[in-house]
Amino acid sequence: FDNDFGWNLEKSYHTLPEIFYKIEQLDNTSDPKIVVFNKQLGEQLGLNSEAFHTESGAQVLSGSKTPNGGMSISLAYAGHQFGHFTMLGDGRALLIGEQISPQKERYDIHLKGSGPTHFSRGGDGRAALAPMLREYLISEAMFALGIPTTRSLAVTSTGNPVYRETVLPGATLTRVASSHIRVGTFQYARQYGSIDDLRALADYTITRHFTSLIEHENRYLGLLQTVMKQQASLIAKWQLVGFVHGVMNTDNMTISGETIDYGPCAFMNEYNQATVFSSIDHQGRYAYGNQPYMAAWNLARLAESILPLLNENQDEALKTAEGAIGQFQTYYDSFWYSGMSKKLGLFQSNSDEMELSEALLKLMEKNDLDFTNTFIDLTFEKCNDSEVYQFDEFKQWKKQWEHLLKQQSQSKEESISLMKENNPAAIPRNHLVEEALEEAVEQENYQKWNELLKVVTNPFEHNFYEEKYTAPPNKSATPYKTFC
Ligand code: AMP
Ligand code: MG
Ligand code: MG
Repeated sequence: FDNDFGWNLEKSYHTLPEIFYKIEQLDNTSDPKIVVFNKQLGEQLGLNSEAFHTESGAQVLSGSKTPNGGMSISLAYAGHQFGHFTMLGDGRALLIGEQISPQKERYDIHLKGSGPTHFSRGGDGRAALAPMLREYLISEAMFALGIPTTRSLAVTSTGNPVYRETVLPGATLTRVASSHIRVGTFQYARQYGSIDDLRALADYTITRHFTSLIEHENRYLGLLQTVMKQQASLIAKWQLVGFVHGVMNTDNMTISGETIDYGPCAFMNEYNQATVFSSIDHQGRYAYGNQPYMAAWNLARLAESILPLLNENQDEALKTAEGAIGQFQTYYDSFWYSGMSKKLGLFQSNSDEMELSEALLKLMEKNDLDFTNTFIDLTFEKCNDSEVYQFDEFKQWKKQWEHLLKQQSQSKEESISLMKENNPAAIPRNHLVEEALEEAVEQENYQKWNELLKVVTNPFEHNFYEEKYTAPPNKSATPYKTFC
């Protein structure tokens, strides 16, 4: 136990067959400095934030020094990228240990941008400061929204230049995750490993994440069903806040059910099923409205990968797998409709509530209404104050909504509190994120970034924000594009 930092590291990933990881050499960083440190998360992990604000703390989090009891490995995985299967692996990341928290929970401590690895495939293994700050901000916003996610412990500038179209300051992100096992890890095992390797991965996963399945009559089917349900729940949560992940490749889908990889993601302003931000997603494969279908597609790749474990008879295995994955839509719909009902202050989610939700989305889409603010204006009865809602279709919809609200046995106050709990006021709006990043990176002024972080990590503190944090961007602004 390292008393200064509070490290309490284990290396359970080493118990997997050797094909699953590579031991890596550390890279040098010329002048590492901690730029942001998440004190609260540090405490939850049993880490002492003061100790990290030192030269040796910055060396550890920039990836030039292994922590006491830690390791430096990159993880092997494969995956479908925009539908094409390929070998991948941590090309710019290191797992430096698994921290056992004071509550005895296990978390991967992972450095993104720490230099080249066995899996870099010609890449430089590095990351620039702005995208790491962006991931920190958005992942912490997601956590505050109550959405399962990897978390961000720190951003550390390395002092090394990163060569993209221009020369950029380099940085690492210290990512904290309940694990980094992906759908792509199972695809890797199936494609490049033996059946024993595949079984070892599945058993490791069950021991690490789903101990209740150990006694299951078909634990691998149980694994598939559990991952499917958790993904159905996760994607419904994304949809309910207007989050567009942007790169739902199978290597970016965790088995733990946490959101991972904040490269090209962004939040939607006006409601539109076709919303795409990623500059490389030309066909809209990962558009907002496609996310549930893409999740089901990814889960089918997981199912294929574990077929040999499901049944010795592969025809039977296929039937079992199809049966399990076939339930995704039902689970997803039930999570989505019940979430929508809550956003509308409705305590039930039967056919009337479902129809009402659908109707609202249709008219939001037709009239370019802001997704977040429409729910906020309904919650705070501000629809009469705003021009954007002054049309017949909306007024009629609102009458039907009010009728359903009145039919409930719960009081109006109870409905309003339900809405307040389920409708965030502040999301990381793209234009605000860009402004904050520009000041932070170009002027080394973190004031805006810190203010925005405070706002988006308190998304349900209604009445707390200045108008600038909730106002949608100017309609004439050029379409927002993200890069990864
Ligand atoms: P992503 O699109 O972020 O999921 O990344 C896809 C793959 O590319 C992963 O295996 C990454 O580790 C790898 N990768 C991304 N950026 C770099 C880089 N700068 N150097 C090496 N590998 C990278
Ligand atoms: Mg990725
Ligand atoms: Mg990425």
